[in-house]
Order: sequence, then structure tokens, then C-alpha cells
Amino acid sequence: MRCLHCGTWAFKLLCPVCQKQLLTPKPSQRVLLNGLKVNSFFAYDDIAFLLHAKHKVYGSFIFELLAKHSFEIFAKTFHFPEKILAVPIDDRIKDGYSHTAILAKALKSDSIKPRYKALQATTSYSYSGQSLAFRKSHPRRFVCKLPKNSKVILVDDLITSGQTLLEASELLKKFQITPLFALTLANANLN
Ligand SMILES: [Zn+2]
Repeated sequence: MRCLHCGTWAFKLLCPVCQKQLLTPKPSQRVLLNGLKVNSFFAYDDIAFLLHAKHKVYGSFIFELLAKHSFEIFAKTFHFPEKILAVPIDDRIKDGYSHTAILAKALKSDSIKPRYKALQATTSYSYSGQSLAFRKSHPRRFVCKLPKNSKVILVDDLITSGQTLLEASELLKKFQITPLFALTLANANLN
């Protein structure tokens, strides 16, 4: 097959040169209005072409590759005195897999346990390309199936306006659940 980035022949989705260049994390952090810290591993522009391929047949392989170079490394160095839950945002299966579930799975460690299908949206608006006003007036309306008093890491593929993570974290607090922080693959708004 050809490298998805440069087009040279490669045995994997990305050739070794592109893999090194693109999959070396560039961490960034944003703090949402309610104080939730959102840590991202990549700049959106660097991996946008990979994220756009998420609905192709090899979409799950792309997310596994990205997760291996980000979430999995994070989990190896993260320790916490009690077990915490990694909760993928709206991990409904689409095109045969859930991209946020793949990311949460990569966090599995002695301290972190993935908890699937615990925070699903009941609306299905596409936020892609929409304004903040649209996002605010069309909430995801999550249903929370997490145990009370649990501590969680929220997991999503992308942070753009931060509206989804803001809504999710505010809902958790109503159920006496502590969102410790959020992790996303990419930050689409570095300014
Ligand atoms: Zn390449």
C-alpha cells in the first residue's frame, strides 16, 4: 500500500518517515470555562488528513495507530492512588467501530479502566463546521450511566469549541462524579 501522507510504498498506513514526523505528540492544554483541563496530543492540522479518513474501511486502524502513539504512552506514565474510569464521549458504533472507544481502550492500565457506553448522546447533530452559537443551542443531551462518586477521564477525538466536553463534564458533576480532566487526540483551536 501507499503511505497516506507522502504516497511512497509502505508496509503500514504511514511510512516510517511520516510516522516519525506526524506521530510525535505535540501536547497542548486548554482550560474550559468550568475549569476542566483538556489535554491534547496532536495539533489538528498535522493529523487532519488521518481523521478525515475515519469513515473509510481502515478507519479503525488509523485510530489504533494514533492511540498507540498518544493515549497508550500517557497511560503507561500515569498513576493514581485509586482506580479511575476512562469514559469515551458518545461511543456509538459507526462504520463498524467507535473511534472514541478505541482511544479509551488504549488507556487501560493498573490505574485506568475503560468504561464503554456510559455517556451517550441522545441527539445526533453534526457539530462539524458549525458555529459556537449552533453548538450551544443544540446540546448533545447525554445520558450518564456511571456509578456515583466515580472519578473519570473524559475521552474524545477532537476539541474544537470545547462545548461537548463542557456539557459532558457539567452533567457528571450533577451525578456526583468527578471529571479529573479530559484527553483528546487533537486540538483544533490552538489560539
Ligand atoms: Zn510517508
